[in-house]
Amino acid sequence: MTRKSADDPHPSPEPLPLSLLNDHLYCPRRAALKIVEGWRSANQHTNRGDIVHEHADLAGYEVAKGVTLLRALPVWSDRLGLNGKCDIVEQRPDGSLFPVEFKLGKRRQWENDDVQVCAQALCLEEMFGRAVGLGAIYHADSKRRREVAFTPDLRARTAKAIAEIHGLLSAPRLPAAVYREGACEECSLFDVCVPRLTGGPTACAEASARLFRP
Ligand code: SF4
Repeated sequence: MTRKSADDPHPSPEPLPLSLLNDHLYCPRRAALKIVEGWRSANQHTNRGDIVHEHADLAGYEVAKGVTLLRALPVWSDRLGLNGKCDIVEQRPDGSLFPVEFKLGKRRQWENDDVQVCAQALCLEEMFGRAVGLGAIYHADSKRRREVAFTPDLRARTAKAIAEIHGLLSAPRLPAAVYREGACEECSLFDVCVPRLTGGPTACAEASARLFRP
């Protein structure tokens, strides 16, 4: 488990890393622990995630059946203050772009995954000047992918999450923990957050709130 030094010349990285959207929607406190306090940590879930991304992290491209697969494509948006990487972008024969994000687990829908791939689409639209209407989440465990339509509603939720994180950076604060059984145990920052102590109506929670109050 590591924490950035207070002397780090870039304590609040700008622009925002795309992956922070996923953290923020999983739990705003998790994103804040990373960008406000600089905590980084790994657990079995993040390690498995790294393994899933191993192939997609090798930058390059291949062509299959007329579709060009761009791996580990750097993407950014000056308008939204974002940067990051797309695991895969498919360039179809008609020139359309289709981002694919690799995730652990079976095929099921998580809002944070949809928002993350939508943010990638917004970056691609700005970079290439063309509309990106569809993408997908590839689920490593079930080896199936789920198509995601970048609807006006999903775009609005994505823009809201981006604005919330920028807001957090402009007025740094640590949201209170909200303990969620299962989700918290899977969080790699569980030991830093100690949500059972800081998230309930206990003396400890009140003390920690006083401690973290600016
Ligand atoms: S342990 Fe739970 S409350 Fe704490 S940061 Fe992780 S998900 Fe959020």
